[in-house]
Amino acid sequence: MVVSRFSSTAVGQLQAGLTPGCQVITPGHERYDEARRAWNLAVDQYPALIVRPQTTRDVAETIRFAEAQSLPVAVTGTGHGVIRNADNALLLDTSPLAGVHLDAAAQTAWIGAGTKWGTVLSAAQAEGLAPLLGSSPDVGVVGYTLGGGFGWLARKYGLATDSVNYFEVVTASGEHIKASATENADLFWGLRGGGGNFGVVTGLEMRLYPVRHVYAGNLYYPVENAREAFTLFRQWISGVPHELTAAFVLMNFPPIPEVPEIFRGQSFVILRGCYCGPAEQGEALLRPWREWRTPQVDDFKLMPFAHAAAISNDPVDPLPAHTSGAWLRALHDEVVEALIQYVLPNQAPPLLMFSEIRHAGGAISAVDPSTTAFSHREAPYSLQMVGVVPTPELRARVGHHMASLKQALTPHLHQGVYLNFLEGEEARERTPQGFSAEAYARLQRLKAKYDPQNRFGYSFAIPPA
Ligand SMILES: Cc1cc2nc3c(=O)[nH]c(=O)nc-3n(C[C@H](O)[C@H](O)[C@H](O)COP(=O)(O)OP(=O)(O)OC[C@H]3O[C@@H](n4cnc5c(N)ncnc54)[C@H](O)[C@@H]3O)c2cc1C
Repeated sequence: MVVSRFSSTAVGQLQAGLTPGCQVITPGHERYDEARRAWNLAVDQYPALIVRPQTTRDVAETIRFAEAQSLPVAVTGTGHGVIRNADNALLLDTSPLAGVHLDAAAQTAWIGAGTKWGTVLSAAQAEGLAPLLGSSPDVGVVGYTLGGGFGWLARKYGLATDSVNYFEVVTASGEHIKASATENADLFWGLRGGGGNFGVVTGLEMRLYPVRHVYAGNLYYPVENAREAFTLFRQWISGVPHELTAAFVLMNFPPIPEVPEIFRGQSFVILRGCYCGPAEQGEALLRPWREWRTPQVDDFKLMPFAHAAAISNDPVDPLPAHTSGAWLRALHDEVVEALIQYVLPNQAPPLLMFSEIRHAGGAISAVDPSTTAFSHREAPYSLQMVGVVPTPELRARVGHHMASLKQALTPHLHQGVYLNFLEGEEARERTPQGFSAEAYARLQRLKAKYDPQNRFGYSFAIPPA
């Protein structure tokens, strides 16, 4: 059992300074185990204290308490992207700070720190607008956006972080400030890609886009067609417009009752994507695929963008997952050979659930790289791989397997990484590779200015200069 390191007086004083009803949870509390749990069940963390603030003032009070107690602070919204376990830290859980205020005329949304994308998606779609969410509406807006945010509208409208008008932040000294292009512009630069290193984001304002419907979904083919599909993908992708963001996926569906029978226990090569222009043009774009072979399952269709979750069908319920990724320089034949070998082994049960090569470029690479900490905008493809890891032993095996796959892909990898698709130790070890050398040095200087004690050291590893 973990024992609280605080006197009941100190905790009582903190509680008294917060909005009545705010949860302050110490080890031994009946809610401790529920409160320390992340969405990713592979995370097993033991915070010294968990606080669920209800207002920005509560966040500032909590940060001042942490400073007085010399306690590091880990911040979480959903637990989809834990980078470092909050062991012995104060875990600040922003989930009660959820909320969206839409300004349809201005095409913007103010979004509270604990908000998940699904809430923003519903509110925006009611006005015919779209936010730049990723594959899962269950992911938190803030964690996703602080790391970049690469979703199904990215080639047309860019990364989520590029659409932020301003962030509201409680800094390490407990001050509540705004960061925008005109106020604390250095911090605004760093928050766009640099993660949760510089303070607690309590809210942000983001631009929305006029997208009501998309032509989107998946074409599923037998895995025996993987090589040919890869060749077609490589040729086809070179000429597609920015309205299309597409991906080449190798998928092993688990043999569990929750998976529809047609997919259960089966493997597929999948063309996945989202076209945000006129549906007839989307359909015409897909013609080479449908003429190449009739897919086993074809769910590419005109759909309200409100149904964007159906594109990737990511799991919603918490699960123990391990993720890794890389940027790819090109789609060489050796890439598909390595993926077939590691993702679709024919001798043994697969260790990975899927690999996904997502087409980047377009509006992502059109942004001047000096305007945000987010780097490697020129990389043309991202690779993500995910395994389900119910035990620490399996997590180690899957981690090793992913490392071997990346080793096999080395000649074709960009030297940089996309930090949103890394997690845990790997995200921290490879943080410098998440940025250009200039951006990383500038982030370290920014850290020295805004968080010299490294109070927010549970994000990407950016030690103060
Ligand atoms: C199912 C799934 C699908 C995904 N799809 C995509 C995708 O399509 N595109 C993409 O780019 N990424 C995607 N991701 C990765 C995702 O963007 C990251 O895992 C992201 O960090 C999750 O943010 P969160 O707030 O939900 O998670 P959390 O684990 O709650 O937060 C992650 C980190 O963000 C920081 N943070 C969170 N809130 C705050 C705050 N208020 N102030 C300061 N720091 C904060 C902290 O450092 C925290 O450790 C996906 C992840 C999953 C699990």
